[in-house]
Amino acid sequence: MPTTLVLRAADAADAPHRILPVFAGDADPLAPLPEGLRENARRTAALRRFKADAGKTLLLPFGEEQWVVVGLGAREALTRPAFCEALAKAFSELKGAGAAAMSLLLPAELPWPAEQAARWAGEALQMAGYAFRAYRTQASEEAPQIVVSVVAAGQRVAVEAGLAAAGHVAEGIALTRDLINHPAAVAHPDYVAEMAQRLAEAHGARFVRIRGEDLAQQGYGAIHAVGRGAEHPPQLVVLEYGTAAPDRPTVALVGKGVTFDSGGLDLKTSSGMALMKKDMGGAATVLGAFRAIAGLALPVHLVAVLALAENAVDALSYHPGDILRTRQGLTVEITNTDAEGRLVLADALALARDYAPRYLVDFATLTGACRVALGKQIMGLFCDDAPLREALQGAAQVTGDHVWPLPLWAPYRKELDSSVADLANAANGGMAGAITAALFLKEFAGEVAWAHIDCYAWSDGDAPLFPKGGSGVGVRLCTELITQLRETAGDGR
Ligand code: MN
Ligand code: ZN
Repeated sequence: MPTTLVLRAADAADAPHRILPVFAGDADPLAPLPEGLRENARRTAALRRFKADAGKTLLLPFGEEQWVVVGLGAREALTRPAFCEALAKAFSELKGAGAAAMSLLLPAELPWPAEQAARWAGEALQMAGYAFRAYRTQASEEAPQIVVSVVAAGQRVAVEAGLAAAGHVAEGIALTRDLINHPAAVAHPDYVAEMAQRLAEAHGARFVRIRGEDLAQQGYGAIHAVGRGAEHPPQLVVLEYGTAAPDRPTVALVGKGVTFDSGGLDLKTSSGMALMKKDMGGAATVLGAFRAIAGLALPVHLVAVLALAENAVDALSYHPGDILRTRQGLTVEITNTDAEGRLVLADALALARDYAPRYLVDFATLTGACRVALGKQIMGLFCDDAPLREALQGAAQVTGDHVWPLPLWAPYRKELDSSVADLANAANGGMAGAITAALFLKEFAGEVAWAHIDCYAWSDGDAPLFPKGGSGVGVRLCTELITQLRETAGDGR
């Protein structure tokens, strides 16, 4: 576990630092405080106008103890994302104050059973407690271990189960974040593939790796062209967990794993290139989701496909004007070497379809245009299959990994017309860049129920749940998606 946070179930608050979530509108929200503290706390709350609004905190030092009371807002309006954000905020305040041991007192009347409440709490604390320390050399920079005991009266066994489940999701998110945070010189295609292999072995998953010249020989001409100019060759990696059955649908997750995107011969500017170690964020998200889903042993036949390549400048780099033959058969004229993500994904989607998935979802840091449209907090969702789209939107709503639907607007397909090949990789006009990128992918998704998610994968560090660096957004979404698919789309198809 890359975080230094240990979570355990406890029967009573036993640590000097304590987190007490409270509801607004309750007659006496501070009633759970110990009697000796209550009266002072009420006066302090009045003085500071603390009303238990969602995410608002009240720090109460009291002798050997310190309490952080954190508002959850109105009881009937509480959502899982708001709960997670409030706990992350309280945790971060105590962590910032140097607390090494904390107790979290779960309120008695949450909208979830104790096991689920403990799971959401555990996920939130681990997400907020994540720290990337791989390159720190000074002892003063070491993250101290923090122990949090989670207390729900009479529910210790349920809390233990919830925290164990949270651990799988948190490890998935931490894996995604680590992969993104490592610099491109470390997290190159071979590195990511080897991490994937280790993960497959740990979970008894089947593992396939097609690397370098083998890609060209097997017809994967697009990803091969994109990655052939780099020191570490391009590769397609598949992890396969479980087997298909009527109650275990085949779900394929595909991730763009461009470990560094210089733009290629159509070189990016310095500012455009600065964050491009994160251009493998889609593959990192898929790998983290695989870790979470396999760890939780969810009932699914999961196929994770990683499209790994570095888009480098080299004598062997592919050129503008080149015409590539994709694995699926379509030829592509290269009109811009910086539109490489859709090329590696074209071949990855073709490979994923060999597994006959019922649902196919790709994650990709694909276009700046999507950031312009939706900003950093919302991923663009392209999906014409109603059950899959609704399942993804439902999963986004409950987890807080936000998506917003954008159209696969067929009339824009002509922007990808080429005079020499079946299609061009970059649109002729500069408009609707996120949509034309999605329309390119659609050519390779076939008739499968398919969704494309254009993600940012990065956090600037302005929210306690998301420390600066790789965000891990999408891991909870995929995990929840498996559940939602069974509920909303399960038997009817
Ligand atoms: Mn690019
Ligand atoms: Zn890219």
